[in-house]
Amino acid sequence: MKHDLKGKKQLYGLTFSEITQIVKDEGFPAFTAKQIADWLYKKEISSISEMTNLSLKIREQLSEKYEFGLTPFTKVDVSSDGTKKYLFTTSNNKFVEAAYIPETERATLCVSTQAGCKMGCLFCMTGKQGFQGNLSTNEILNQFRSIPEFQTISNLVYMGMGEPFDNLDNVLSSLEILTSEWGYAWSPKRITVSSIGIIPAMITFLEKSNCNLAISLHNPFDDERRQLMPIQNVYPIQEVIAEIKRADLGRQQRISFEYIMFDGVNDTDKHVKALVKLLSGLKCRINLIRFHSIPLTPLKGTPDERIMEFRNALTTKGVFTTIRASRGQDIQAACGLLSTKEMGKNNS
Ligand code: SF4
Repeated sequence: MKHDLKGKKQLYGLTFSEITQIVKDEGFPAFTAKQIADWLYKKEISSISEMTNLSLKIREQLSEKYEFGLTPFTKVDVSSDGTKKYLFTTSNNKFVEAAYIPETERATLCVSTQAGCKMGCLFCMTGKQGFQGNLSTNEILNQFRSIPEFQTISNLVYMGMGEPFDNLDNVLSSLEILTSEWGYAWSPKRITVSSIGIIPAMITFLEKSNCNLAISLHNPFDDERRQLMPIQNVYPIQEVIAEIKRADLGRQQRISFEYIMFDGVNDTDKHVKALVKLLSGLKCRINLIRFHSIPLTPLKGTPDERIMEFRNALTTKGVFTTIRASRGQDIQAACGLLSTKEMGKNNS
């Protein structure tokens, strides 16, 4: 449980069983747990004093050890296409970002799960910063609750900074709060968790959550994927996909594969053929993503025309494939670009 600077613990981000335990420890009536959960996740207040159906005595007793626990963002950048990038400071004074992406009929928030990342993917700005720490459940959900557009968010994607399955407990707790009746009561269909495929954590996720899963594939060949993603040395994509094929998926749970297009690296006919073979028998989709060049990597993005041909070739062979629209590029909110300049300043 996260503490604030005054040593108080934070209520926001607790699961119902954790709230129930506090209620028990403090000697409050049992129904108080449901009341607190309602105030935390169903109403728009930000302090314990506003929990007006709790007696004054309970509010005072609760306030001695706890605070509500929301943290405002420290900065926002707004793109010419309406995408916004919010910067948050974590409890250990690191920085993370969330990207809000409004579209005609929906608005997606992309949240971070770690400050920095250990995984070292060649094409990723976050990976270049190294690992700065896991986000608590509070810090993951605070990105969602503490932006002005909170009520307009229709979809959540765990695709910001960090590898969600390297912080599985906090990610699962946040999903529990988002999808439980006592929490935000969101349909799991509205949430997608994106991972490079850490097999043991992925199996636990598939057992415990009905949220959608996106796997960063980026190359179907073992030797080539190793060059892009060191995780291939530990959990090869072939085994990741075999595990997904074996899993008992939720009826409405969607599996997708992210595929960033690198010019001359993973965009040939040979790659189409290997992808079709690798994914055969699996109900899934591939999202092709334009690559935005980043410093310190020789990789370049595939031209649009070739991306289209690649999509058509996969579709013709029966693999449902889309090309993801690129958003927020001018404020570095696009995929793989989330990384804070502030983090660099903080560490220097
Ligand atoms: S792509 Fe994801 S897993 Fe790889 S370094 Fe970046 S944040 Fe980490």
